[in-house]
Amino acid sequence: MEEKLVETFGSYLSWKLDEHTWILNFMGGSQNMYLLEGTDRALLIDTGWGAGNLREHVQRLTAKPVIPALTHGHLDHSGGCGEWECVLMLSGAAADLYTCHRLPFDVSALPHPDFERRLVQDGDVIDLGGRRVELLHISAHSNGSLAFLDRDSGYLFVGDELESAQVLMYETEKIPGIDFVLDEHLRAHHRNMLRLKARESEYQLIFPAHNGAPIARSYLDDYIALTEHIYAGDAKIEDQLHHKYAEAGDPEHKLCRVRWGGASFFVNKADLMQLYGSNLLQ
Ligand SMILES: [Zn+2]
Repeated sequence: MEEKLVETFGSYLSWKLDEHTWILNFMGGSQNMYLLEGTDRALLIDTGWGAGNLREHVQRLTAKPVIPALTHGHLDHSGGCGEWECVLMLSGAAADLYTCHRLPFDVSALPHPDFERRLVQDGDVIDLGGRRVELLHISAHSNGSLAFLDRDSGYLFVGDELESAQVLMYETEKIPGIDFVLDEHLRAHHRNMLRLKARESEYQLIFPAHNGAPIARSYLDDYIALTEHIYAGDAKIEDQLHHKYAEAGDPEHKLCRVRWGGASFFVNKADLMQLYGSNLLQ
């Protein structure tokens, strides 16, 4: 059973995007992590599901000391944190750690279950040696989302906040003390996308954590327009998610897809009704 789980959640296919950057593709091709190497150290963006074999895989790619950092705390990005002694993340990610999905593995059995959660902030820069990566706080899909701007290479890594298939914009799991208000998350997403758009001369390609990568900068325009059209009331609402696994995970059919151009959100229908009841006519 465990072997089958490792095969499902921990089979990594890696390739070089350039001489010092790797895409680590897994989950049958649908999920990506990234490894960025400088002259002194390397940055691993996300840690997978916790299959226990990621560190070994990464060490085959680079001999540099590796700093893992999280795009956000959801389990499919944070499960493998315990393979390292220290992981960089936003405080919101530390509060969200291991949420959104059920654990396929016992992460307390990883070598460093009490790993240091080293908190970072918007604007911090990770110096890899000849390669500096700026951290941008872009929380909307989660309570602690980071983008990583590698200006030297022209790459922007965005986690789950922007992608070609869909961005989840509903409460995937109740976090104690935090109420999910769709209006706040949509406005935050719109602000974040405008901020990334304002800096688009600093990168050429965008790398999401799921589905296709890299993707064109034009997806930023689509997501900015999507939120604007949700508020204008003319975004396309699809009752079917058109996503096999998401539909299986939503037996009560609470979710719908809202689309504009190449952008779409999964939202809770009740949240959308509330939004339209309270905001659309203002
Ligand atoms: Zn997520």
